[in-house]
Amino acid sequence: MSPRAIALIDVNNFYVSCERIFNPKLEGRPVVVLSNNDGCAVSRSDEVKALGVKMGQPWFQLKDLAKKHGIIAYSSNYTLYADMSHRVMNILATFSPNQEIYSIDECFLDLTEFKTQNLTLYGQLIRQRIKQWTGLPVCVGIGPTKTLSKLANHLAKKHPEFNGVCVRQLIKKKCGSNVLRSVKYGASEENLLLN
Ligand SMILES: [Mg+2]
Repeated sequence: MSPRAIALIDVNNFYVSCERIFNPKLEGRPVVVLSNNDGCAVSRSDEVKALGVKMGQPWFQLKDLAKKHGIIAYSSNYTLYADMSHRVMNILATFSPNQEIYSIDECFLDLTEFKTQNLTLYGQLIRQRIKQWTGLPVCVGIGPTKTLSKLANHLAKKHPEFNGVCVRQLIKKKCGSNVLRSVKYGASEENLLLN
């Protein structure tokens, strides 16, 4: 049996990205979204991640850093995020007859029947359409299993050379085998990703 092609599509910094759609001035600025009662950081912009803020870090610990770097904090608005999630999932459903919604901002699409097409281009089309129709940035990872598509998605997020779409078979060609050094994978996962 020839290998399948499974895509994992994941919105980047989902809650922060939703807030940015309605307030474009937040673009390029350090933004966090806080959990219920403003307890902890549950979504971080890249600028906030670069300051070393961890997922789930309590907001009271971050007050000094926030003051120093002008971090903008939002209370979470789950009605908005659920609505944006529906829009994203409905659009993604048009790209494959086989969709599995995995979380509020992630889903798998079975692209096996599109394997004769250029999967990088297909992934870029998905990315562009989500951006154009919702304003949200997504990354796409494609591999023969769900686990590998998830790992490929991780690489697509971390390495700008993928331009948001990482197809497992092209990892070595695009980045060389050093690309996995930045991430802690088990040896067996590394073999599966590169070979
Ligand atoms: Mg996400």
